Amino acid sequence: MSQTVEQHLAAVRDRIRSACANCDRDPEGVSLLAVSKTRPAAQVRQLHALGQKSFGENHVDEALEKMAALTDAAIEWHFIGPIQSNKTRAIAERFDWAQSLDRAKLVRRLDRQRPANLAPLQVLIQVNADDEPQKAGCAPDEIDELADRIVACRRLRLRGLMAIPAPRERFDDQLAVFGRLRALFDRLRRTHSGVDTLSAGMSNDLEAAIAAGSTLVRVGTALFGPRRR
Ligand SMILES: *Cc1c(COP(=O)(O)O)cnc(C)c1O
Repeated sequence: MSQTVEQHLAAVRDRIRSACANCDRDPEGVSLLAVSKTRPAAQVRQLHALGQKSFGENHVDEALEKMAALTDAAIEWHFIGPIQSNKTRAIAERFDWAQSLDRAKLVRRLDRQRPANLAPLQVLIQVNADDEPQKAGCAPDEIDELADRIVACRRLRLRGLMAIPAPRERFDDQLAVFGRLRALFDRLRRTHSGVDTLSAGMSNDLEAAIAAGSTLVRVGTALFGPRRR
């Protein structure tokens, strides 16, 4: 088992390196977030021991249980799931990053609930890059207003954008949607200082995301194997 996780991590790092080489990017400019949702704390510990520092979770209660079993490990925790208003306190108190901020109400709550003794919560605006109304994420034309609200908060730090496009098979189609996202990111960067993170790309499409300019890929399956749920 430990061998497998180690090999998977090496393989993902190789994929990131060659994707960067293909588009002349410095691999240092792409960070790897290990998406540990549904995986036991023991597997997080294993990957952490191999040098993986940041982990992503999409359910608050599941994450809190894992954190309790991993208090001795210096892990940077990212919340990447849909944010329910009644879970913002736990997110503000226990996570380092919230990647899925998509509405004004959450901005106010997270800012108020972020404890004063912690560093500001690092936040990404989740944008719906697909034009499917039912999907999570704000509309592209709502980014600016949300960004202005976030930068007005003392306990939040705006770092950029996150998106979860619908899966596409062909590289060119993946590249097209990530390209649209990159354009939104560039626009945000021009108007808001400190914006440096484009969270895009998962196990199946990280090469296209990197080609389009992603600075953070969120990988679950390729590190841990297939999920049961
Ligand atoms: C599950 C999940 C991932 C990882 O997906 P894989 O295909 O397993 O790599 C990335 N981002 C978010 C928001 C997720 O929920």
